[in-house]
Amino acid sequence: MRTMAFYGKGGIGKSTVVSSLSLAFAREGRRVLQFGCDPKSDSCYTMINEPIRTVMDEWINRGEPDLRLEHCMMHSSCGVDCLEVGGPQPGTGCAGRGITKAFELLGGLESLKKEYDVILLDVLGDVVCGGFSAPMRAGFAEEVYIVTSGEFRALYAANNIAQAVRGNSKNGVRLGGLIFNRREVPDEESHVKKLAKFLGTSIVGTIPRDPAVNRAEIVRTPLFEFDPNAPASRAFEELHKRIANLNSDEFVVPRPIPRIIFEQLYFMSNEREG
Ligand code: ADP
Ligand code: MG
Repeated sequence: MRTMAFYGKGGIGKSTVVSSLSLAFAREGRRVLQFGCDPKSDSCYTMINEPIRTVMDEWINRGEPDLRLEHCMMHSSCGVDCLEVGGPQPGTGCAGRGITKAFELLGGLESLKKEYDVILLDVLGDVVCGGFSAPMRAGFAEEVYIVTSGEFRALYAANNIAQAVRGNSKNGVRLGGLIFNRREVPDEESHVKKLAKFLGTSIVGTIPRDPAVNRAEIVRTPLFEFDPNAPASRAFEELHKRIANLNSDEFVVPRPIPRIIFEQLYFMSNEREG
């Protein structure tokens, strides 16, 4: 079983990436669990045609003693099992608690191995608080992928996430690579390449900006089903192939860039250029 966690700044495209990858793995016959660890609770939105249930909601409604995994698990028509952690009422409580609770419900990794071939975690990443790095600590994120564009704040978040990966490397966590989701800002490819080089990793996939992504979302349909020939669908196929075939030496303990140097590399050089 492979466990992959996808981190990145809010709104960068994690759920879009994870949903397409889940479907690609399911299509080649893998048993897949997509696990949304973001209080937005919209990771599995395009896969599920019913109101989204979350672990946090079921926990509150049923109460701790009666809560079971089957109350929370959703089954998509494309064969992917989906679990959404959900969040507390906005402005109250800690969303990280839901992640810990969901791990409890799922049981140990050993029992999950009997049920799934691939688990993909879609994790909010600009707040690398204890709760959100829990997947790395609990062994649920052996492989980490960071979704980024070439925007300063996305790269900044990516560098912070790399720091969390390094900090959790003693638990076996490794960085598999960066996923470059284009925003079409100036020089973005060179910015992302530069970060990959400093971190000691590679860009495992590049996704073009594609209006089909948004259109598929509006009709709540997986992108591959909405338009298998869309440029983003093709790019996700490539990304899936690349991730499915990564060599063991491509999983690294990254070397995050110290903040001051990061600012000199990105922010100040942009200012001078501008
Ligand atoms: P996250 O899960 O990181 O918060 P989402 O996957 O929800 O981000 O994406 C945020 C928004 O950006 C969504 O509305 C999505 O449709 C759009 N989006 C993401 N990637 C692309 C892309 N490559 N081309 C066009 N729109 C995209
Ligand atoms: Mg999301």
